Amino acid sequence: MQNSESRIGIVGAGPGGVSLARLLKDQGVGNVVIFERTDRVGGKSFSWNWQGLAHEMGTCYAAGSYGVVKEWLRHYGVGLFQLKKSAALLRDGSIVDFRDYVNHAGRLASYRELLRYTRACFGYSVRARTAAGRAKVDRELSQPYGQWLTERGYNSIYRFALRSMTVMGYGALHQVPALNGLRWTTPGLIRAASKGQMYEPAEGWAVLWERMAATMDVRYGAGIQRVVREGARYRVETSQGAETVDHLVVTTPLDECNWMELSPAAQRVAAQVEWHGVITTLVVAEGWFRDWDTFFYETNTLEAGGSRFGHILGARRTGDKVPGLPPDRPDVYVTYQYTNASVSDEQALTTLREDIAEMGGCVKEVLLRKRWKYCPTLTPEAIASGMVREMEAMQGVDNVWYSGATFSHESVFNIAEFNIKLAEQMAKRLRQN
Ligand SMILES: Cc1cc2nc3c(=O)[nH]c(=O)nc-3n(C[C@H](O)[C@H](O)[C@H](O)COP(=O)(O)OP(=O)(O)OC[C@H]3O[C@@H](n4cnc5c(N)ncnc54)[C@H](O)[C@@H]3O)c2cc1C
Repeated sequence: MQNSESRIGIVGAGPGGVSLARLLKDQGVGNVVIFERTDRVGGKSFSWNWQGLAHEMGTCYAAGSYGVVKEWLRHYGVGLFQLKKSAALLRDGSIVDFRDYVNHAGRLASYRELLRYTRACFGYSVRARTAAGRAKVDRELSQPYGQWLTERGYNSIYRFALRSMTVMGYGALHQVPALNGLRWTTPGLIRAASKGQMYEPAEGWAVLWERMAATMDVRYGAGIQRVVREGARYRVETSQGAETVDHLVVTTPLDECNWMELSPAAQRVAAQVEWHGVITTLVVAEGWFRDWDTFFYETNTLEAGGSRFGHILGARRTGDKVPGLPPDRPDVYVTYQYTNASVSDEQALTTLREDIAEMGGCVKEVLLRKRWKYCPTLTPEAIASGMVREMEAMQGVDNVWYSGATFSHESVFNIAEFNIKLAEQMAKRLRQN
């Protein structure tokens, strides 16, 4: 039996907070309140409705490998739209099918390569069971993912990763750590993509979180102002009033937690996290690609983080998700640009127009833009020195728990998988209390 008196307060109603509340409920822990500073749930799952369609400005894809997230989509009646055709624009200007780009044989990775990769991924969890093994694993995972792949001869997966990592805004392959690469580009994701199992929720990601949160105690417009420890409990002061909880879960960026005194360990993590920047822009364009659902610019992915910083990485033609749409409706695209503080909104827009024009397209209207603080990544030094294990050890100390993108990876898949284990750990603790 759970300790029915224990009240759990979750900060943030993004995928991290809402999925954890749902998983805690599955574990029999129902006394949960979520504090959300905005008037909506979903965080970076931001589906914007225009002309009767949801266009994803944040979270976009769900793969066949999405496990529990796919179950939730089914359970909450959110349909899936399959993205069938993906292309790469190569440096020589030619356009090729993404599957041919990766393998030149119609498959995403040769079976042998994928088998070796699967063994390597599984091997990490085995090797990390001893102290000596852990230190070696930490060092290997701090390497740039691109180097990790090429040194081991994963040439098809390297190409796949340009799309799965860099175009997703996770960083250039010569920079993003292998830790992130392996967490996200799992054998399951590669297999799902090779079978064409890539989807967008037809009604939009936001609808999933809204339906899931409908029966939860969510305090909207309740930005945290201060959290004060009162004995073994926490008094949470928000713009909507105060509430006392027994356990606190932080799903929001640690570097923004100026509303509570972070433990020394949490402060160390906050200091070792680097953020990336991504701009999504929803445009109406003419003369651009129509035969593909998505495409990416190879040149810009190879050099992202270098001279091509701020240029377009990829785009998705959005809007075929619902049958029976008027045939004369305009073509609408979501575009992705990898960026940082040195690229102004104005510059990014000019570059975007030029990049689209290079492919023969013409931007007719800019409907919406979002600039995201994105993909928290531990520094290589922090990974090499064992910070991942320090983060695991932080869980539940003084009844404070941590979730969200910083603790797993910037994807709904990783966050949900992480939360499955976290919910189990929390429920076990509550049973012991
Ligand atoms: C452009 C883009 C494309 C993406 N594509 C994919 C994809 O294809 N597939 C995929 O799986 N994932 C994708 N993601 C990633 C996914 O959206 C994120 O990993 C996920 O939303 C992170 O969830 P989170 O709960 O950690 O944080 P967030 O989504 O950022 O949610 C945090 C919540 O906390 C609230 N909050 C913040 N501070 C406070 C405070 N002080 N008090 C109260 N509330 C607060 C915020 O308002 C927000 O609602 C994409 C993201 C972006 C931006």
